[in-house]
Amino acid sequence: MRDTLVLNASFEPLSTVTLNRAVVLVLQDKAVVEQAHPELRMRGAALDIPVPRVIRLCRYVRVPFRRQAPWSRRGVLVRDRHRCAYCGRRATTVDHVVPRAQGGQDSWLNTVASCAEDNHRKADRTPEQAQMPLLRQPFEPTPADAMLLALGQDDYDALPEWLAQSAA
Ligand SMILES: [Zn+2]
Repeated sequence: MRDTLVLNASFEPLSTVTLNRAVVLVLQDKAVVEQAHPELRMRGAALDIPVPRVIRLCRYVRVPFRRQAPWSRRGVLVRDRHRCAYCGRRATTVDHVVPRAQGGQDSWLNTVASCAEDNHRKADRTPEQAQMPLLRQPFEPTPADAMLLALGQDDYDALPEWLAQSAA
């Protein structure tokens, strides 16, 4: 559930994130809480903060006017949170849903994170041909999503170059 609004340092709304990701951004000093829930607090061993409803990034991130985030292998792994689309275990490779040998493209909608074993097993076949159904459908992240996915994982290398320069 994405329930926390993220503002750029300039206060423009960028996107929404899960509460967990919002808290991580605040704890990593990448964002500050602009508006908190009036009553709820998050408490842990070394943690006691109000539940954020709105956070604001500490650094201004320039988001060019683009409809699509540029595709990259690392971007696909970050989007899929390093989980294999076929078995759910840790993924280290990127699989083409429609294999390149059959004309499949390097695109957000045709690529998924995959463990090396499943990637090898699927080989040059579609999920139907290999009888390996996708656990979830690939999606196209917005540029703001791509940035927030990467920020949440502290994985600046996965940022598209045009975002890495402003966020790193
Ligand atoms: Zn797998």
